[in-house]
Amino acid sequence: METRVVPPALREEEAYRLRTPASSRCFLEAREYLPGGDSRSPLYYPPYPAVLDRGQGCWLIDLDGNTLLDFTGNHSSLIHGYGHPQVLDAVHRQLDKGTIFPGPTEPQLRLAKLLCERIASVDQVRFTNSGTEATLNAIRAARAFTGRHKVGKIEGGYHGTPDDVMVSTHPSIAEAGDRLRPRARPASRGLPPATIDGVVVLPFNDADAAARLIEHESDHLAAVIVEPVLGSAGMIPAERGFLETLREVTRQLSVLLIFDEVVSLRTSFGGAQEHYGVRPDLTVLGKLIGGGFPLGAFGGREEIMRLFDPSGGRPPIPHPGSYNANPISMVAGVATLELLTRDAIAHLNRLGESLRRELRLAFDEAGIASQITGLGSLFAIHLTSRPVRSYRDTIGADADLRHRLFLGLFNEGVLMDPRGVGTISTAIGEPEVDQFVGAVRAVLPRLLES
Ligand code: PMP
Repeated sequence: METRVVPPALREEEAYRLRTPASSRCFLEAREYLPGGDSRSPLYYPPYPAVLDRGQGCWLIDLDGNTLLDFTGNHSSLIHGYGHPQVLDAVHRQLDKGTIFPGPTEPQLRLAKLLCERIASVDQVRFTNSGTEATLNAIRAARAFTGRHKVGKIEGGYHGTPDDVMVSTHPSIAEAGDRLRPRARPASRGLPPATIDGVVVLPFNDADAAARLIEHESDHLAAVIVEPVLGSAGMIPAERGFLETLREVTRQLSVLLIFDEVVSLRTSFGGAQEHYGVRPDLTVLGKLIGGGFPLGAFGGREEIMRLFDPSGGRPPIPHPGSYNANPISMVAGVATLELLTRDAIAHLNRLGESLRRELRLAFDEAGIASQITGLGSLFAIHLTSRPVRSYRDTIGADADLRHRLFLGLFNEGVLMDPRGVGTISTAIGEPEVDQFVGAVRAVLPRLLES
């Protein structure tokens, strides 16, 4: 009988294929109707992504019936896991009343009030359907308020897909230029050249270099937008002093400081801005505030947010949107934030600390070079020996090994983001953290086989 020898590098993929025949069939058919078989580009991974069917708490089930322990929370949106009864109950009650109305609603007021009460810098807020739209409006507000047009953003920072920020999200080392004066590189085709020219790319965690670039461009700079924890680049927290310097220099030069807290809001009751003690002018929100339903928000100083007020005539910045502040997302968001108490956050953060510590141990003991980054319940695994303080430090990491780790974890019944980032939900407890670390420990020796 002929025995087929599968090279070690392909063994995880082979095992994955054997586990996921229904996903394979569904995905192949989807490719006929959707380019790449889906509508969210970062979710693709080879040979094909598992097609997901249902979720409960921290467990997901795919089309083949594989049960997966979930450490994605739909990429940090579901902070209480899938189908939290309190969130679903609020949604069911609202469904009976109606899904959308041509006028303001009370649930909108409740969520706005909760956000303004929690986040010290947010006097007023407006809702959108995504973080992308929230970013777009925050930048537009900054331009209108300052009368300037350029935008400063961090190299490796991701803020959704508005043209202004689809710049230098993942530049290659060859195109990125000098570390201290990064070049602005389009992150997509189809961007107008003028957009790229209007973006000032700043290095993360190098306060002096960033301050120099801001000072140099200040005559034209409307805003600097920054994630306090660089998310898609791999959960890299700002070091003490970096955000403080950005705050100081932007205030001196009348440039607005925008925090993108779409991902980092969960790190503290009042967002990462509370953790760092830095007060931005505007804040962009999304993901968890919608409790699993589409939602984004932007908010900040009243004198800036006033630009969106139509009650005195045509507003300086019109902000229409057929599904803006739809009551389903509002009630799901209210229920989610009510559950996200200071105690719940402290618990999440403790689990995050212990997970990062255990992961470091596991990689060290296996002799595989890694950097485990993160803050609170956000974490990432970087397969590199170089300390990770910015996007640049991640460029040389071993992407092939990371992919094998990802598939290996899937084969062990654990789902992580293929980019090596993860989040912990309140549905996860110590046993699940142990299970995750156990799965990593089971996969690591397999990665060393050659
Ligand atoms: N900002 C950050 C930090 C994000 O991670 C994302 C989404 N991954 C966005 C903005 C955009 O949000 P959305 O996907 O809702 O447009």
